[in-house]
Amino acid sequence: MAAILPARITKVLPDSIAAEIGFDVGDAIVAINGTPPRDLIDYKFLCSDEFLELEVLDASGKTHHIEIEKDYDEDLGLEFETALFDALIQCNNRCPFCFIDQQPPGKRSSLYLKDDDYRLSFLYGSYLTLTNLPEREWQRIEQMRLSPLYVSVHATEPEVRIRLLKNPRAAQILDQLRWFQERRLQIHAQVVVCPSINDGKHLEQTLRDLTSFHDRDVPTVASVAVVPVGLTKFRPEQDELIPVTREKAQEVIAQVRSLAQEFRQQFGSNVAWLADEWFLIAGEELPSEAEYEEYPQIDNGVGSIRLFLQQFADAAAELLPTKINHPKKLTWVVGNAVEKAFQPILKSLNAVAGLEVNMIALSSDYWGQAISVTGLITGHDLLFHLKGQDLGEGILLPNVMLKHGELVFLDDMSVEEVARQLQTKILPVAGVEELINTCITDSVSN
Ligand code: SF4
Repeated sequence: MAAILPARITKVLPDSIAAEIGFDVGDAIVAINGTPPRDLIDYKFLCSDEFLELEVLDASGKTHHIEIEKDYDEDLGLEFETALFDALIQCNNRCPFCFIDQQPPGKRSSLYLKDDDYRLSFLYGSYLTLTNLPEREWQRIEQMRLSPLYVSVHATEPEVRIRLLKNPRAAQILDQLRWFQERRLQIHAQVVVCPSINDGKHLEQTLRDLTSFHDRDVPTVASVAVVPVGLTKFRPEQDELIPVTREKAQEVIAQVRSLAQEFRQQFGSNVAWLADEWFLIAGEELPSEAEYEEYPQIDNGVGSIRLFLQQFADAAAELLPTKINHPKKLTWVVGNAVEKAFQPILKSLNAVAGLEVNMIALSSDYWGQAISVTGLITGHDLLFHLKGQDLGEGILLPNVMLKHGELVFLDDMSVEEVARQLQTKILPVAGVEELINTCITDSVSN
């Protein structure tokens, strides 16, 4: 097992237990009640005690022992530089559609790290394949009841999944789902559809196999997201992949909708949902709000456009004024895939007297895509498209363009660097309320 490093603190929340004790940014937790936490999961578990004895290393390297008495569910109020205090569990597959392999060469080595770590799946909903877990990690999942996990299934037929992951261990997926089922643990599944490999009858078989794990009071497979393969200009040669065409998207939409209708009759839920991208590629209307039920796969781009439109309509009714006191001009940057869908939002914002919001819908030059979703737009793309343009008082930047919890784009450019080069402010916005509030508040600051 990898060595466990002290958990370095990056934030002490105001008015928290940690602030009261006098923790500083740069301190590091070595052990809690004698146990070094491996990751945030251990940290939270170890902290759910009423008496804590912390071994802490301060920034000068001095060790302190701190005793804390608190309610068992009271949080200490600390944030850390990483969720993993040992090492990332790396991927042992060679999927031809891997986005890490489809990046430009010559970048910082961490950009090429392929994580396949159940802990990040449990904490942040990132997808894993279950092909690299030794027995002790399976035991930990069971003992700590790390559920739900998010699993990239892609195909349930052994030979098809082996072909997609290029790993003989990929064949075990149905046995692994039975393992979850026996322990009443849940997963959300995703299927990345690669035309001519796992589409057609293979897709049907996969969805039928997955939904066979749905019919319990605690469905083992809670939901399935069906996602089109994404290709970039850096894809390896002879990767055996075929891009998803408009016709293919229409075919997959019809196929999955028909199966989902069947599942709905059987289970009272669609179980399987299509990512928004299918509808954008097919040029078809997005499904209605009701079709998404509780939006179980929202972080995978399933229903995110529909939900955003609905949330905006609700928030606008409450928050959007008829005018603002000080006229303001802003630029709202989005991926060009959502340009059409977001027009009603743009119209509402520009109906506020004194507010001018210009949407700039970008394709990604970085990835070489003619049509791009917002989450894939990079710092390079902003510079490529926006340099020299009148951007007003600042750029409204959907924070889905940034790495989780960081002010850094997918291509490793920092928000600060892009703002400096564009000579404007960049205002990251998370969700509709921040979008509206940033538009209507008097001062623009970053
Ligand atoms: S499992 Fe994920 S990270 Fe690993 S090769 Fe496949 S797509 Fe890439």
